[in-house]
Amino acid sequence: MQNHQILLLFLPGRTSGSLAGRIMNNWPAISEIVANVQAGKTTATELVKKSLKKITKQSDFNAIISVVKTRALQRATEIDEQVKHGQAIGRLAGVPFVAKDNFLTLGGNTTAASNMLKNFEAPYQATAINRLEAAGAICVAKANLDAWAHGSSTENSDFFVTKNPYDKTRVPGGSSGGSAAAVALGMAPFALGTDTGGSVRLPASFCGVVGLKPTYGLVSRSGVVAMASSVDVIGPLTKTVADAALVLEVMSGKDELDGTTIGRNPEGYSLRGSRFEVRGSRIGVIREYLDVGLDSGVRQVIDGATDKIKVAGAEVSEVSLPSLPLALAVYYVICPAEVSSNLARYDGQRYGHFTNEAKDLEESYELAREQGFGSEAKRRIMIGAHVLSSGYYDAYYKKAQTVRTKIIQEFEQAFSKYDFLIGPTAPTTAFKIGEKTKDPLSMYLSDIMTVAANIAGIPAISIPVGVSGNLPVGLQILAPQKADRQLLEIARAFEATS
Ligand code: GLN
Repeated sequence: MQNHQILLLFLPGRTSGSLAGRIMNNWPAISEIVANVQAGKTTATELVKKSLKKITKQSDFNAIISVVKTRALQRATEIDEQVKHGQAIGRLAGVPFVAKDNFLTLGGNTTAASNMLKNFEAPYQATAINRLEAAGAICVAKANLDAWAHGSSTENSDFFVTKNPYDKTRVPGGSSGGSAAAVALGMAPFALGTDTGGSVRLPASFCGVVGLKPTYGLVSRSGVVAMASSVDVIGPLTKTVADAALVLEVMSGKDELDGTTIGRNPEGYSLRGSRFEVRGSRIGVIREYLDVGLDSGVRQVIDGATDKIKVAGAEVSEVSLPSLPLALAVYYVICPAEVSSNLARYDGQRYGHFTNEAKDLEESYELAREQGFGSEAKRRIMIGAHVLSSGYYDAYYKKAQTVRTKIIQEFEQAFSKYDFLIGPTAPTTAFKIGEKTKDPLSMYLSDIMTVAANIAGIPAISIPVGVSGNLPVGLQILAPQKADRQLLEIARAFEATS
């Protein structure tokens, strides 16, 4: 190989799609890591140490709020003991992961990146975390987020702003920006995020990693700080589609602690041995997502990925879902309504930041909220309380629910003709830090292509398919409710061709 060719391989700005997000993350496939642990080629302790070292070395990206060192090393020792004694280990044994800091975890604090919960120690763990742990995965750190998961850039964190792994002057996307950056930077083989209106997919797109938002209810929300309960979903951020499939398989399924959970596909989600055929798959390109001020570089990358899947045998054509442009308005009524209700519990008495400066109980509520909540949380509480108030309920909340039903129907119609729908994950690549902070509406516009999947409860994934101006571009694929397995299969086909 020529010198300049070698150099090209290490330049993050390479124009080939397949390198986006994979340069800094040199972890092998998760299944390979586990096989190595079982075979004694590596130990869980070594893996945890590697993860912690990468976190420390790259702390300038501000991806991580806290590390869970003692507990992680202790769990690693337990797994290494099992291997030593010839016992069978779990499907994720020894694999380090990072959880967004709105997952309740033991061994440290859970803050939701809000001053309201700054010193909160969870008394129990989220079901998703428990299931991953039962399979041997090890939580090594808690990732930064927009406080309460309100945001699209991680700039709303009450603590610090996470930087994009490709360009430190840019945002990583949000609200799971710390989780996406952590995976892109190779701090762990996978991370967990939450997706209420795009918070797994948008940062995945901006950081060049895979981000999966499963069908609503497929992963238990128990033990995850609630944002908007009718749309909140938990999803993995990974380097590859196969890794996301494996993590989903471990953490999904019914949970008696969350009444909205559904059973998983009896075939599971892990793609090992899958015989999926791209040929004949019917794919609809969502026309409305190509119309809305789409950046030309992003458009080019998406068109390129679409052409390649056509060559692989898929039947591709454009499809229109005329109500989709309304999804953002619907979301920004329903979401704050549910946020205002979910955040009401943080009154400084039962939950959250307590202050003894107050002269009476009433004032203690006021001060706790005044000091504990940042401006975005306050904005959403006010909007939510307004749209739910008796004089405005019909005009806003009820109307939003009506349009929500219309959007669900349009998706159902589209899926009667197409197996999958595709489009960009976001209209642009990662934007500059500070670019949108003064204008909440322009920030909300970043979610224009992601919120509809949450409103309809359908699964969607963002995968890196190329770069534009040295920044990663994500392709979004959507599938009918409960077709998570098929979604992962087609995503892997796109991954292979891009
Ligand atoms: N960016 C969207 C919002 O601000 C979505 C957030 C999320 O998915 N948690 O509401």
